[in-house]
Amino acid sequence: MRFVLQFTDGQEFPHTLGKVVCIGRNYADHAKELDNPVPTEPLLFIKPATSVVDLSKPLDPPFSRGDVHYEVELALLVGETLTHATQDEAERAIVGIGLAMDLTLRDVQTKLKEKGHPWEIAKAFDGACPLSSFLPLSRVPNWNALAFTLEIDGEERQHGEGSDMIFAVPTLVAEMSRHFTLEPGDVILTGTPSGVGELVRGSTLRLTLTGGLEVETSVVE
Ligand code: ZN
Repeated sequence: MRFVLQFTDGQEFPHTLGKVVCIGRNYADHAKELDNPVPTEPLLFIKPATSVVDLSKPLDPPFSRGDVHYEVELALLVGETLTHATQDEAERAIVGIGLAMDLTLRDVQTKLKEKGHPWEIAKAFDGACPLSSFLPLSRVPNWNALAFTLEIDGEERQHGEGSDMIFAVPTLVAEMSRHFTLEPGDVILTGTPSGVGELVRGSTLRLTLTGGLEVETSVVE
């Protein structure tokens, strides 16, 4: 069953979930921790709608395929069609902000990277994109002031701030729209800060976003 996009007040978004457009490296400290160069243009990839699951339900990724890494990311809900958008058009088309995990089969991805192959099987599998509901945006927020945190079993593992993004939200969304038309119901993941690591069975996760979004979830035993 396809994930239903909704706002934190329970109101459903009147469009079906589309694709999830992601950026690989948008925080310099995370690029460094994986020994990747800091990019001069965004490294983009897509997760299909079938990869999206409810973040608040227990996570059950395919542990049989090697290490599964968590990456917490700020998620944006697209409310208008964008093709070759300006930065101004891009930021006005965002109607909600939420949180997502870009779950990654890290062992699989490392092998793909070595061979120069695409990443899909490491990042686009069923369940690869646990997603929250969205805080509605009535106006363009101060992107730089947004902050989010991931705690695992009570310990802070990741903390991200809009001001640390290499490509700020308006730039990133405009750039994405030059490669892929963005449609209402598409979701954008904006990259992960440092602190990524292995997702462990039975752990409890707490994700928070400034502005009042808080999600607790767990990993299956
Ligand atoms: Zn990511």
